[in-house]
Amino acid sequence: MSGLFGVVCRGDCSSSLFLGTDYHSHLGTQYGGLAVYSGDSIKKKIHDISRSQFKSKFFDDIQLMKGNSGIGVISNKYAQPLVFQSQLGSFAICTDGLIENEDELIAELISDGIFFNELSNGSTNATELVARLICQKDSIVEGIAYMFKKIEGSISLLLLNKEGVYAARDRHGHSSLVVGIGEDKCAVASESCSFPNLGLDSVKFLGPGEVVLLKSDSFESLKSNGELNRVCAFLWIYTGFPASSYEGKNVEFVRERCGMAIAEKDDVEADMVAGVPDSGTAHAVGYAMTSGIPYRRPLVKYTPGYGRSYIPPSQEIRDQVAFMKLIPSVDLIRDKRIVLCEDSIVRGTQLRNYTLKKLFDAGAKEVHVRPACPPLLFPCKFNISTRTRDELIARRAIKSLEGRDLEDISEYLDPSSEKYGKMVEWIREDIGATSLRYISVEDMVEAIGLPRNELCLYCWTGRFH
Ligand code: SF4
Repeated sequence: MSGLFGVVCRGDCSSSLFLGTDYHSHLGTQYGGLAVYSGDSIKKKIHDISRSQFKSKFFDDIQLMKGNSGIGVISNKYAQPLVFQSQLGSFAICTDGLIENEDELIAELISDGIFFNELSNGSTNATELVARLICQKDSIVEGIAYMFKKIEGSISLLLLNKEGVYAARDRHGHSSLVVGIGEDKCAVASESCSFPNLGLDSVKFLGPGEVVLLKSDSFESLKSNGELNRVCAFLWIYTGFPASSYEGKNVEFVRERCGMAIAEKDDVEADMVAGVPDSGTAHAVGYAMTSGIPYRRPLVKYTPGYGRSYIPPSQEIRDQVAFMKLIPSVDLIRDKRIVLCEDSIVRGTQLRNYTLKKLFDAGAKEVHVRPACPPLLFPCKFNISTRTRDELIARRAIKSLEGRDLEDISEYLDPSSEKYGKMVEWIREDIGATSLRYISVEDMVEAIGLPRNELCLYCWTGRFH
C-alpha cells in the first residue's frame, strides 16, 4: 500500500507538500518521494526510508524544491514518483495499488517496441507500466481511461504536469482519495487527516474511476465512470489513521462503534477495558462506553524511540522491537480481569508472544480478547494488506481441525455453525486468551455505516460483499 498527497498553491507549495506527504507515513515504510513542478521543469527526490523517518530524509531536499505544484508518496514497494518526457509532455507520476496482469501487459508493450527499466530485484516498477500505458493515448485523461481498461487489479494515481495535479481513484474504489480546499491551495490525499493542520477542508471524496485536475484554488472533475464502489473495509478497522475519513465516515467513530457493537453482545465480567495500542484503542473506548467497564491503559507504547517508519534489518531485531515498544504498567495489571480490544488477529504470534504474555507475566487474572473484525480468512487481492493465506491464524486453525487445506470453507464463515465455534476455540487456545469473541460481518458493516454492497469485505467473506 502507498499514501499519496498532491497540492497546487498560489505561492510556493514545498512546505505543504512536505508536511502533507509526511502525514501518510503510516501507510508505507520502504520509500518516500517528492516531485515539484518548478519553472518549466520537474524536480524529483526519492529516498529509502526503511531505516529513518520521511521527515529527516527530506528536510534538506525540500528547501531546494520550490514550485507551485507537487506530488508526494510514501510507498511500501516501489521507488517513486517517476518522471517521463513523452508526447504528452513532461510529467511526474506516483501510484498506489496492484496490477494482477502485469506480466501480460509488459509483454504486450514490449512487442510494440516499448522498453522498461529493470529494477535490481529483476521486476518492473508498476508505476512505470502505468505511465507507459497512459502514454499510449493522445491526452492524459484518455490515457488514464485506457490504463484503467487494460489493467486487472486496482490503481490510483497522482500525475503532475504544467497544468496542475491530476488525481485518479482506482476504478473499483478500493482505496480512497479526497480533495481539500484552503484559502490559497487545493490538495488531494489518501488520508484526509493531512488536511486540517494545513488549513484545508475536505470537499470531495473521489468516486471510483473518477479523474480530477487540481488548480491552485479549485478542481475540475474530468471523468467519472460510475463503477460500483468497493471501498476497503479494512481501512476503518486497521490501516487508516484515526483522524481520517473515507467516504465521509470517520475512522475513530467507526472503531468506537465496532467496540460498542461487541460490548452490546458480550456478558463478560471484567475490571477494565484496554486496547492494544494504537489501532485497538478506539475499539476499546467504544467497548468501555457501552459496557460501563472503565477504560484503562495497562500497556503503553514507548513512542519516542519506536516510530512506525522504521523497519529493522533482521526478523530477530524486528521481534525485539515489537516486544520492547509495549511496556506493561504492572501495578495496574496485577490480579485484574481485562477485556483486551484488538483491531484484528492476523497471525496471532504478536498477541500470544508479546501482548498476552506481558499481561499474564504482570499478574493479570484473566484476559478476554475482542477483535474488532471477524476472523481473517482470505488474503487481500488489492495490495491493501500483504498477508498470505498460510499466515492467517484462522486458516491454520481450519487446517489443523481438518487435517488438510480446505478449498471450500463456507461452513467456517457462519458464526452460528459448530465449525466456526471450533475454529474460534482453536485460536483462543493458540494465543492463550481466557476467552475470545469476534464481531460479526453484519455488525462491522453497520459500524462503518455504508451499504454492504459499497464495501469490499473479501478478507472475511471471500466475496466482494
Ligand atoms: S481484500 Fe481486504 S484488505 Fe483488500 S481491499 Fe478488500 S477488505 Fe481491503
